[in-house]
Amino acid sequence: MLTLTFLGVGSAFAKRNHQSNLLIEAWEQGPDHQAQPDDLLLVDLGGLGPQALYQLKDRPGFHYLRHGSQINYPMLRRIFITHQHADHIGGLEELALCNMYLFTDPQTGKGFKPQIISALPVLVNLWDDSLKGGMGAVPGRPALLQDYFFIMALKSHRQRYDHFNLLKHYRFEIFPTDHILIERKYDWPSYGLYITDTRSNQSVFFSGDTKFDYPAYATMMQAAKICFHDVQLFDQPEPVHPLISELRTMPAEVKKKTLLYHYGDDWDSGPFDYVPHEFAGFAQPQQRYVLFS
Ligand SMILES: [Zn+2]
Ligand SMILES: [Zn+2]
Repeated sequence: MLTLTFLGVGSAFAKRNHQSNLLIEAWEQGPDHQAQPDDLLLVDLGGLGPQALYQLKDRPGFHYLRHGSQINYPMLRRIFITHQHADHIGGLEELALCNMYLFTDPQTGKGFKPQIISALPVLVNLWDDSLKGGMGAVPGRPALLQDYFFIMALKSHRQRYDHFNLLKHYRFEIFPTDHILIERKYDWPSYGLYITDTRSNQSVFFSGDTKFDYPAYATMMQAAKICFHDVQLFDQPEPVHPLISELRTMPAEVKKKTLLYHYGDDWDSGPFDYVPHEFAGFAQPQQRYVLFS
C-alpha cells in the first residue's frame, strides 16, 4: 500500500493550512496493521513544515513521528525536493541541524543523515543559493551538503527522466514543470512526480509547482487514477501557478479525479463552492489518501 498525506495544502503565503509538503508512506500491510510504514518519503519541507510535522505526530496513526514531545526527524529517511522556493525548502535547515546535533545514528555513532533526492540542478542551487548560508559551517570546519545528507542526484535529460523507488515496486518518475520561466521553458529547475505501482501499472500524478500547462501533462493526467494539481484562486497577470479558471478548461473526466492543493486561505469563502462538484475537491491537510491499496 502507498499512502499520501499533505503536511499542509496552503499556498506559499497561506496561514491557515501550512504549506504544500507531502509525507508519502509505503506499507507491506497497511496502517491498520503496522505502527509505522516500511519506507517513506518526504516531498519538500517548507518554512512551516516543522510546525506541520509537530501537529501531525500527535494525530492517530502518526505517533511514530514522535520523539518524546518533539519530532522524530530520523524517521524521515528520504526527502525529495521539487524546487527551491521557501515554502518547499525553508524547513530543511532545522531538519538537518536536528539530525546532526540532537540524534545519533546507532550504526555510525554520529549524527543522523537522511537521503536527499532531486534533479542535479536543484541540488546544486539548493546548497549554493539557499542552505549554505546557515549550514556552511560546523564546529571547527566548513561543511558541505554531504555532511548532512546522502545525496541522490537524478538526471533530467530532455526526453527521458530519471526515477527512484520506494519498496522496489513504487516508482517515482520526475518530470520538469514550467513554474517560472526566465528565457526558455524549464530553465528554472522545478519538478513534479509521476508515481506508478509497477505491479498493477496504476499511476498517480502530482504536479509540483507549475503554471497551467495541461498539454504537457495530459498524457500522464489521463492515465492516472488520481491527480493532485496546484492551484491559484486569485487572478494575476503572468501567474506562476494555474489559475482556477484555467484548470476548469481541462476535460471533465480529468477534473473529476483531480484534487486541488497549494490554495489560498479564502478557499471556503463562497466563490469556490463549485470545486467539490467539478473537481475531486480541495485536498485536505493531515489526512491519509490511499494511492495504491
Ligand atoms: Zn509552492
Ligand atoms: Zn514554487
